[in-house]
Amino acid sequence: MAERAFALKGGSNPFFPTRRITEEGRKFIYKELASEHKESMRMSEKRSLDLSPAVLGFDPLTLRRKYSEERNKRLTDAGNEQYLEITGHHSRFEQDSASTGPSSRNPVDEKIDALIIGGGIGGLLAAVRLQKIGLNNIRIIDKAGDFGGTWYWNRYPGAQCDTEAYIYMPLLEETGYVPKERYAYQPEIFQHMQRIGRHFCLYEKSFFRTRVQEGRWSEDTGRWLVTTDHGDKFNTRFLIMSSGPLHRPKLPALAGISDFTGHCFHTSRWDYSYTGGSSSGGLTKLGDKTVGVIGTGATGIQVVPHVAPYAKRLFLFQRTPASVDERNNTLTDPDWARSLKPGWQAERDENFCSIMAGLPVKKDLVNDKWTDFFKLTYRILDTGEPSDLPESTVALAREVADYQKGNEIRDRVSRMVRDSKTAEALKPWYGQWCKRPAFHDEYLQSFNRSNVELIDTDGKGVDRITARGVVANGIEYAIDCLIFATGFEVGTAYTRRSECELYGRNGKTLSDAWSEGMRTFHGFLSHGFPNCFHTGLTQTGAAFNYTYTASKQAEHLAYLVDEAIKRGAKTIEASKEAEEKWVNLVRAPGPMRKYQESCTPGYYNSEGKNDGNGFIDNQYPLGPVPFFQLLANWREEGHLIGLNLN
Ligand code: NDP
Repeated sequence: MAERAFALKGGSNPFFPTRRITEEGRKFIYKELASEHKESMRMSEKRSLDLSPAVLGFDPLTLRRKYSEERNKRLTDAGNEQYLEITGHHSRFEQDSASTGPSSRNPVDEKIDALIIGGGIGGLLAAVRLQKIGLNNIRIIDKAGDFGGTWYWNRYPGAQCDTEAYIYMPLLEETGYVPKERYAYQPEIFQHMQRIGRHFCLYEKSFFRTRVQEGRWSEDTGRWLVTTDHGDKFNTRFLIMSSGPLHRPKLPALAGISDFTGHCFHTSRWDYSYTGGSSSGGLTKLGDKTVGVIGTGATGIQVVPHVAPYAKRLFLFQRTPASVDERNNTLTDPDWARSLKPGWQAERDENFCSIMAGLPVKKDLVNDKWTDFFKLTYRILDTGEPSDLPESTVALAREVADYQKGNEIRDRVSRMVRDSKTAEALKPWYGQWCKRPAFHDEYLQSFNRSNVELIDTDGKGVDRITARGVVANGIEYAIDCLIFATGFEVGTAYTRRSECELYGRNGKTLSDAWSEGMRTFHGFLSHGFPNCFHTGLTQTGAAFNYTYTASKQAEHLAYLVDEAIKRGAKTIEASKEAEEKWVNLVRAPGPMRKYQESCTPGYYNSEGKNDGNGFIDNQYPLGPVPFFQLLANWREEGHLIGLNLN
């Protein structure tokens, strides 16, 4: 089998950028860092980097020890078992209060060319691409009441995308839309998803408030039969799974969680009938309420500045502090928008994702706090790009840059938060890529309010829930309203997260086929499940800008569908060998897994277990830009190596 289907040379790792760090390089770094008395570290023949505490202004070794201590405090055996699945009694936490359409309708029985499950960014882009190749007899179904995916569900006050809108909001040039500001809020992104739906005539092809029950492959017809909770029967030639990577809300499995008698909801199902206001804020009904928020991830930190000014009292329960950098939002400059040349969005996106993958670029077009880290690395190396320095030098510079970034983040906390004890508790002690970095200009200041109290649990988390409130550090905090900002399922079975079972060849379930983890070729097709394509973070090139991954995936899957049709094939399917080889490639522990081994637990590293089921696992090790280049080369060859067409 041609190696081009798997090429793994040069390039970089998605989260821990630049070229692969060799094992020798790692040993070298740690040997060097461990020699505490060494004043100057001569890292290469070409360049001498003086990384002594006297020059740096901090001691990397002290930080390494501190990070390790903080991590050890948080390690538990529970892993994902510390979370509750939202089923049975808890299914109230995922009820859709935003939908305004009718909940019942007549079932449909249709023969179609493609069925897309999921109307978020991935599903919409897939639909647009399929229409582009002339496949118009398609349907999209979604359990939500509209398009939008993440941006349909997450309407909590202050919900905003941390990735620049100019690259995050897809199809801007095609729809003629210019975002109002650099970092868009939920309403604008949601409206843009609706705009895409209208612009590409997708509403008339979609069924909302519709849950898939199952998909069954028929050998006789060479088609999938997909049934839904409305009694629909979709007889489809191609099936596209696009249910999204962070889709199912999760709750902490805390004792007493069902006993709480106050009001309670998850951030992805914000209850404005209780809080008042809208996603822009104004939670006026909270004036006489004591509110508890559990969770300080990217969501929790956006919610707090909106609850704080309105609630009588706010307790924020913290297990691990977020790393919160500056947001620096700005309104879009109309002159800049007018100056953009056709193709600007793809160019900007490619530039951002290249920098984030540690690849050399001439200019940093986005130039924000995401790309900041890489500039720090280059500053240490005194070069504009990784150039031809030895791996070990670059890796050491990255480790030091990581500490420097952490210091910046912690200094910022000291500057913003008046009470020194609270400030200390808000400081994160882990590497920049251990958890999803967050960005906000009002979060930290919320703790200067007299009605806001940080309940830091020093890594232990909340003890339990009672009828009256939350117990943390052995103290019961009575509250009226409890808000879970506790995130979404990661690392659980794929069919559980996508909420439907697929029956492939010989009736084999996808749950069985993937009982030991996901199995695909290039992240799209699986052996035994012909004509069924997966999109999302499925053994693919995971980019920090999800839209980059989703749009490149849509392009590739449309190519595959087109080729199957053009070549007169009834089925297109991954060969067993290609799938096996791809699975081995994406599962091999890369540098990011190694980096994550020293990280505080979270959903990136499978809650500290590093067992290959974390968010960062199962991806092409060199990162998204090289991955999609690999696919482009593979397409250019035109042999569809690794696939069986019959
Ligand atoms: P996360 O999983 O990132 O955060 C969950 C939080 O709940 C963590 O702080 C976790 O603590 C805490 N937690 C869990 N169990 C307990 C417990 N028993 N006691 C106390 N605290 C607990 O979820 P989010 O919803 O914040 O974010 C999910 C992802 O969604 C983000 O990482 C990002 O990818 C995306 N997102 C993007 C946004 C954007 O672009 N602006 C905005 C919001 C989300 P611990 O850290 O200790 O595990």
